[in-house]
Amino acid sequence: MRKALFPGSFDPFTFGHLDILERGLKVFDEVEVTVAINSSKKPLFDPEVRCELIRASIGHLENVSVHTFEGLIADHAKKRDAIALLRGLRQVSDFEYERPMASANRKLNPGLETVFFLPTQKHALISSTIVRDIHKWGGDVSSFVPAPILEALRSKK
Ligand code: ADP
Repeated sequence: MRKALFPGSFDPFTFGHLDILERGLKVFDEVEVTVAINSSKKPLFDPEVRCELIRASIGHLENVSVHTFEGLIADHAKKRDAIALLRGLRQVSDFEYERPMASANRKLNPGLETVFFLPTQKHALISSTIVRDIHKWGGDVSSFVPAPILEALRSKK
């Protein structure tokens, strides 16, 4: 079984994340979406709620699990017998952010590869930050997030 982790904040999960997850499942037998508990950020949704919303958004997919996680992803990957981290690249700035992380993770866990996927053009400009900002001012984010996320955002107002 070739297992990968898909780590991220997912605050909230978007069609961009879904795009990367679906591509990852074409290459790996199993993917664990690993929702970061980052105590220094003030999240829109609590990590457990983010997990529930992701699960509700991926009912059509098989071989995916969703868990929260705090600590070093390189260690977590070892514990979970994962051989890769999935990450998405939208633009050059993503590469600049991702490269040192991938390099550090390779040092911490030489058996772990970071694998990058490009989203379809339609999803390439979506970010959780933009979704949060649009939502904050009452804008329509229905083309950015799956239905369960949209519902949760609406009921949060
Ligand atoms: P993090 O805080 O770890 O960057 P995010 O939830 O923002 O967490 O992103 C998780 C991963 O998903 C990152 O690799 C990011 O580049 C990727 N990603 C986010 N949005 C998109 C998108 N629209 N298209 C492709 N990849 C994306």
